[in-house]
Order: sequence, then C-alpha cells, then structure tokens
Amino acid sequence: MLELTVRRFRSRPPTASDRVLGLAIAGGSLRAVVADGTGRILGEAAEPLANLDAPAVLRRLTQLADQALANADLAHVGVKAVGIAFGGPVDPIRGLTLLSPRSPGFEQYPLAALIEERLGVPTVLENDARAAAFGEAVFGAARGCQTVVYLHLGTGVGGGIIIDGRLVYGASNTAGEIGHIVVTAGGPTCSCGKPGHLEAYASEPALVARVWEALLLVPNDPGHQLFTSHCTAPRLFEFARLSPTIRQVLDDTIHVLALAISTLIATLNPDAVVLGGPVAEAGQDLLEPLQARVRQFAYPASLRRVRVALAELGRDAPVIGAVALALART
Ligand SMILES: [Zn+2]
Repeated sequence: MLELTVRRFRSRPPTASDRVLGLAIAGGSLRAVVADGTGRILGEAAEPLANLDAPAVLRRLTQLADQALANADLAHVGVKAVGIAFGGPVDPIRGLTLLSPRSPGFEQYPLAALIEERLGVPTVLENDARAAAFGEAVFGAARGCQTVVYLHLGTGVGGGIIIDGRLVYGASNTAGEIGHIVVTAGGPTCSCGKPGHLEAYASEPALVARVWEALLLVPNDPGHQLFTSHCTAPRLFEFARLSPTIRQVLDDTIHVLALAISTLIATLNPDAVVLGGPVAEAGQDLLEPLQARVRQFAYPASLRRVRVALAELGRDAPVIGAVALALART
C-alpha cells in the first residue's frame, strides 16, 4: 500500500545530507531538481515540453536529471529517491501515467518503473496537483499542518487533499477533484459535461469567458477599454477597480469559491486551505474577500482552526512537491 505521509517529516526529519531528485512534466515544461532534505535546491535543469511522445519525453527527462545531478556535483554520488509530478491523471499505486493532455503515448505508461530502472532508486509518481498539495504541506504555506486542502486554480480547477498527514486517493483515485464540486444548480457547463461545477466559474479560461459575456450585456462599461481575450486573472482583478461589470463577475466567482471551500472545511476540518495556480496569483485581491466570505459561510467549530492562505511555492509547487514525495519515500 502506497502511503505518503507528512508525518515522516516530523518523526524523522530529513536532513541536509538526504539528497533526492524531483522531476516534473507539468505546466508546459520538463524540470529536474536535485534537493536536500530541507528542500534546498542544489542543482536543476529545465526545458519547454515539446510535442514529443512518451518514450522521447522519458529520454529528455533522464537527460535533464543527469544535468541537474551534474549541476549539483552529485553525478557520481546519486540520490536516495525520485519523485515525479505529472500533468495528467496517474495511477500512483502502480506508478502508471494514464493520459497526457499534451503528449501521445502516456496511456498506461509505466513512467515510475522506467525512471527507477534508469536511476536505480525508489521512484514515486503523482499527478501535479497532488504533488503540489504535498509540497505546500511539507515546504510551503501549510508547513507543519496535518490536514490540508490545496486548490489549483488554473486552466482547470484541481487539487489535493491531505488528511491526518496522509495524501488521500479515494475509491477510484479521484479524491481532490475539487473543480467538480457543485456550486450552483443548473449553472454553466463544466469541462466534464455537468452543470454548475466550480471549475466552470473559477478556472482562468472560465473567468475570462464569463467576464466577456458579462461585458457584452453592458456596452458602456469601462471594462471594454481594458479587456482582451488574453487577459490573465490577476489583470482582471486590477480592471475590477475601474469596471463594475468585471467586479461583479469576480465577486460571483469569490462567492462560489467560498461555498466550495466552506463545504470542504465542514467535511474535512482542515488546518489549512491553500490556493495556488495562475488565478491565485491575484494575491490579496482574491484572498481578502474570499477569507471574509468563508468566515460568513463556514461551520463555526471548524472555522476556528482553519487558515485560508495563498500558496508559497508558486509555479515550483509541482517539482518541489515531487522532491517532498521523494523524501517521504526515503
Ligand atoms: Zn465538472
């Protein structure tokens, strides 16, 4: 049974002499990071994720791993374990990738076993959102917390859940799919085909699309002078200061996010709810109104303990999460 627990970091903390490798195939890039037991990066290498098939990605990834080890002066010493964060669904028990949205050949692909064979050390595979959740719980905004909900607000809305120190998978390995929490009856259609899911409101593309639809109904809103279809979420939060229509869309988004988070708080009683991904880069403009709304909705007995916070690892979260997963395996 796979058991990845943050307790290991409390009972027997890894030290600066523990060396591990974190790999990430996520967010449009390939990355390899050599780190010590405190999460300090000793060497790294990265490149954009070209349109390659799975065996070619594996070759590039092992070359980047060699480069990162050389950069850390550890080419002949090696590492104790490897963690991999993969941008797509995985079977973490069997170490298989199930599908990549970007690259062909990752269906039932034994990525963990192939890396293990090449590098000769225990290798653990996780999807990028769960890896990021684990990274935030070990080295980021939820350091020291035992029950953590992590939301990734990006192209989609994903997440990871840690309960009593342990990463949660569920009956069919979909635990943490926070984007598919129902937040309205009969709302906009989600990428999964169902109506009213959180992702249909709070992903970055959904935000941009909803702002555009709202502006179309208000021809004289100042937002027309500011908005483009390439706007990022943080820009929309800036524009909201001048545009009542954009402000309203963001307010509705914060409302449904607070509903979902309050449901998670009542159900799981977390120490921390951490917000990561491109939408969370809006920072305090998102966090402060969201915290206020969560205080308004959430179950008081659970609310006393929980902290709603911005992620600290930023775009490094998947690869630092992979480092933390590797350390949990040492
Ligand atoms: Zn959905």
